Amino acid sequence: MLRTNNCGELREAHLGQEVIICGWVQRIRDKGGRAWIDLRDRYGMTQLIFEEGSTSVVLMNLVRTLGREYVIRVKGMVIERLSKNPKLPTGDIEIQVHHLEILNEAALPPFLIEDETDGGDELRMKYRYLDLRRTPVRKNLELRHQISRKIRTYLDNHNFIEVETPYLIKSTPEGARDFIVPSRMNPGQFYALPQSPQTFKQLLMVSGLDRYYQIVKCFRDEDLRADRQPEFTQIDCEMSFVEQEDVLEMFEGLVTFLFKEIKQIDLKKFPRLTYADALKYYGSDKPDLRFDMCFVELNEVIGSSVFPLFNEAELVVGINAIDCSTYSRKQLDELVNFVRKPQVGATALIYVKCNLDGSFKSSVDKFFDQDTLRTWAECFKAKPGDLILILAGKKDQTRKALNDLRLEMGDRLGLRNNDKICPAWVIDFPLFEWDEETQRYHAMHHPFTSPKSEYMGQVDKDPESIKASAYDMIINGVEIGGGSIRIHKRALQSKMFDVLGFTKEEAEAQFSFLLGAFEYGAPPHGGIAFGLDRLCCLFGGVESIRDFIAFPKNSSGRDVMIDSPSLLDEEQLTTLGIQIEKN
Ligand code: ASP
Repeated sequence: MLRTNNCGELREAHLGQEVIICGWVQRIRDKGGRAWIDLRDRYGMTQLIFEEGSTSVVLMNLVRTLGREYVIRVKGMVIERLSKNPKLPTGDIEIQVHHLEILNEAALPPFLIEDETDGGDELRMKYRYLDLRRTPVRKNLELRHQISRKIRTYLDNHNFIEVETPYLIKSTPEGARDFIVPSRMNPGQFYALPQSPQTFKQLLMVSGLDRYYQIVKCFRDEDLRADRQPEFTQIDCEMSFVEQEDVLEMFEGLVTFLFKEIKQIDLKKFPRLTYADALKYYGSDKPDLRFDMCFVELNEVIGSSVFPLFNEAELVVGINAIDCSTYSRKQLDELVNFVRKPQVGATALIYVKCNLDGSFKSSVDKFFDQDTLRTWAECFKAKPGDLILILAGKKDQTRKALNDLRLEMGDRLGLRNNDKICPAWVIDFPLFEWDEETQRYHAMHHPFTSPKSEYMGQVDKDPESIKASAYDMIINGVEIGGGSIRIHKRALQSKMFDVLGFTKEEAEAQFSFLLGAFEYGAPPHGGIAFGLDRLCCLFGGVESIRDFIAFPKNSSGRDVMIDSPSLLDEEQLTTLGIQIEKN
C-alpha cells in the first residue's frame, strides 16, 4: 500500500504518529514562511503544514510547484492544529510533512472541484470524472451503493436469488421504443435491448426458481425528461405461488426496511387507493399524499346553472386551499395564469373566498348568490379564511389540470416537504386502455398482467370494464415501483393477445417461447419492479435521477464525455450489412 492512512481518518488519538497519506491537492495557502495544503481523497480532507525552519528548503520549493489537483504522497507527523476547524472531522490535527512525492501532475481543472462549483451542467458532464471528485456527487454514489446493499440484504433474507438475464434479446412490448443492435452473424437481423427482463423473469418462475431478483439495467428509447434516462436501473423481482396481497406485503416490507436502515424513519402501514379514487380525489394515479386538498366534485350541487362554463362542463371540480382567503388580486392572477399555461390547459379558474366575517367573495358573484356559495363551501368543508379554487371542463383534462393546480398550491403553501415520506399503493388499475391514435386497446401495465379473478371469464367481452391485478407503489407523488400478478395459462394469454389486436401469427412469432412455456407447468406468479434511480432521488432528497448515475446522458440522450452516439465508419457498416442513405 502506498499509504498508511486515508485523508478522512486521522484524529487527536493519532497525535505523534508517523503517517503516509495520498490524495489530490484541493487548495494551497502560502503565507510566505508557512504553507498549508488541503489534501483530499474519497474519505475526506486532511490539512498538511509546511513551515520554514522545520521544513527543508528543498521541500518548501517543491510545495511551491504544486497546483490544484496534483496527486501527491506525503510522509509526516500528526500534530495538533493551532486553529482547529470543528466543521471538519479531521479538523483537530494536521500533518507536519517532511517528505513529499508528486505522483502525478494535473492540468488546471475546467471548473472548481469543491462542494459549490462554478461548472455548468454540460461542462461537468463532459468532465464527469472530475465532477465525481466533488464530495456531494460522490456522496450520491455512496448512497446508491448503500441502498443497493440493503436491497440485497432484505431480498437475500427472504430467499430471493439474483439471476442475470440477457441484454441482447428481442423486442418486448412494454410500451416504449426499443434500442436495436444489429447482428453481424445474422445479416439483416437485429437484437433489441431489454426494456425490462419481464418475460425472462416469468420463465424463471416456470423453471421453478420461485423467488428471483436482479438489479438490472433497462433500456427505453423515449423522449427524455429530468427523471428519465435511456438506460436506467430496475430492482426487478418475481415470486411464485403468490397472490397480490403477498407481493404487496413483501415489497412494502422492502421499502419499509430501506427507510428504517438508511433514514431511520419508521413508516406506518401503507394506505391503499384504488386507481378510480386516485383520479377522482387527486386527478392523478400518483397523487402526492403529503397533503390533503382532495378534489370535491360539484356537478350535483350545481345542477343546471346560468353560468355558461359550468353548464357546458362535463366536470366541475375544485380544491380548498386552507387559510388562503386573503390572497391578493396579484396572487389570484398568478393562479389564473398558471392554470392557463398550455401544459396545464384549463381555460378559466373560478375562486370563492370564504371571508373571515362569514360572507363570500367569488369571481362568479354575478351568477351565484351568497346562499349558493355557502352550499359549495359546505361541500368543501371550507371554513372562514379558506379559498376555494374551481375548474370546469372535460373530465380527464380538468382532473389533470386541477392536479397540477393542487401540486402548485402544495408548493406555495410549503406542504411538499422532502422530510415527510408518504407512501401508498395504488391498486385496481384497468387492464386495458383505449388508444385513440391506433384505434385499439393497449395493456395499461403490460400484456402479461392478469385480470382480477372476478373478471377472469370476460377478458374479451367488455375489455374496458376489467380491473387488473396490478399495483403501483407511490411515494410523495412519484411512482417508485409497479407490478402485477401474471397470466400463467396459455389460453388466457392468447386471449389477451387477441384483445390487444395481435393476429395469431403475430402472437406466435413474438411470444411462442412464453406461450410454449406456459404449457409445461407454469406456476401462478407475480412480481414488481422498482426504479432504483428514482428511489435514490427520494432518499437523497433531489429531483433529478442524473445526480445518482455515475455517467448519465444529457437531455438529448448524448454522453458528452465519450461523445456518443457517434457515426460508424463505412467498413463497420458494411460488416453489419447496414447502408445509410446520404443526402
Ligand atoms: N416489467 C414491469 C416494468 O418494467 C414491472 C413488472 O411488472 O414487474 O414496469
